[in-house]
Amino acid sequence: MEELVKKWNEILTYLKTEYEISDVAFNSWLKPLELFQIEDNKLYITYNGDQSSMTLSYLTRKFTTPLKITIEELINQQYDEILVISQEDANQLKKEKDVEHIKIEETLPFEEKRMGNSSINPRFTFDNFVVGRNNRFAQTAALAVAESPGEFYNPLYIYGGPGLGKTHLMQAIGNYIENQNPKANILYVTSEEFTNEVIENMRTNNNATAMQRFRDKYRTVDVLMVDDIQFIIGKEATQEEFFHTFNALHAMGKQIVISSDKPPKDMETLDDRFKSRFDMGLMADIGYPDYETRMAILNKKIEEKKFNLDESIRKYIAENIQSNIREIEGALNKLIAFSRLEKIDITMEIAERELQNFISPNISREITPQLIIEVVAEHFNITVDQMASKNRSSSVVRPRQIAMYLCNTMTSSSLQAIGLLLGGRDHSTIIHGANKIEDEIDKEEATRNLVETIKKKINPN
Ligand code: ADP
Ligand code: MG
Repeated sequence: MEELVKKWNEILTYLKTEYEISDVAFNSWLKPLELFQIEDNKLYITYNGDQSSMTLSYLTRKFTTPLKITIEELINQQYDEILVISQEDANQLKKEKDVEHIKIEETLPFEEKRMGNSSINPRFTFDNFVVGRNNRFAQTAALAVAESPGEFYNPLYIYGGPGLGKTHLMQAIGNYIENQNPKANILYVTSEEFTNEVIENMRTNNNATAMQRFRDKYRTVDVLMVDDIQFIIGKEATQEEFFHTFNALHAMGKQIVISSDKPPKDMETLDDRFKSRFDMGLMADIGYPDYETRMAILNKKIEEKKFNLDESIRKYIAENIQSNIREIEGALNKLIAFSRLEKIDITMEIAERELQNFISPNISREITPQLIIEVVAEHFNITVDQMASKNRSSSVVRPRQIAMYLCNTMTSSSLQAIGLLLGGRDHSTIIHGANKIEDEIDKEEATRNLVETIKKKINPN
């Protein structure tokens, strides 16, 4: 802790430069962070500012991973977790310590010692991965790779939106291979970790031994998994190094698994060399889970955490949190924490109150490109077929462009997917249409109002 205290300012400053954090963000988020305590190799931090759970969870989500990496880099200290807690919780913890309270450790079901490999987290396995329509293909592909690494699908490229299970599947592959073959050398890294190592390497002036160490680490593995590759693109040196690593491993028949938030073809600045490399392998996407899958996942998590939760509240969560499993888990964790702290069972009233940040009220329908196109067509009194047609008359072109803009801003659908729904148009057409409307919105009040109106029709609350 001493060293951490001594270097705290340096750590924050480094973080600011390394992650290109603006002055205003630095002053409002990072400067007010204060070291509180280290316990069980977890670092607790308090925030000298707004204490709402939204702010604290934002801080945790946004900054704790970069912090972790920075602390590792600067003082070579690795924490299992970094948590931003409220000042109230901090005071409470202090009090509990003072009276030498016996701490009731939350029993974690997966506390067995990590075997050999520290980059693989035993918590994420195929056993506890719920398969639904949205992820069946990805799960099958991942399992095939786990069973025969380097043989059939190389690389395996998993893509999908945030919180839909990409990391879980990669970790499951790692755990599976490790189980089958404890000697296998498996390396899982986030692309930030990879980037940081490349940067570190360059800082040591491409020092030959450092470079050798880096290569030894990455080019001697049997399985390399790089998570969230989208963060590597645009970073020249990192991209270059990854490219060589990739080629070296691939040539030796070593398995490579990559995840990203989009398919390679949608990563506009991704080097073409990569696109063709990735095309050699298998692409597997994970889509949004349907209600049944969300419910099954929620039930699984509840079971894992040995918690009691009423069926109606489970339904409430699964119905309302639709596009991100991590959020479903976050909501559940919040209820568990509340229930343990207050020592009461969760009622619907409590759930509704506590989950306000996760659940926006009255979401009655999911906003999809289909829905948007239907609403726009209806608004302009034309048909969906006309929207998707080749018709170039202005009475159709403009609604079509508005739909492009709305699909692009209100959903996370890829440009390809939007283009497909709008009559097989390519992504540049969609961008062009969307940009045109965006410019108009900036310049013309009428367009602004029109778009606002349609938006309200799409999402009436
Ligand atoms: P991503 O890497 O795609 O952002 P994660 O793999 O981190 O998402 O998943 C977020 C959380 O949701 C994790 O805790 C993971 O265990 C859980 N999760 C996602 N999909 C499933 C699933 N099909 N079954 C069980 N848990 C899942
Ligand atoms: Mg992930």
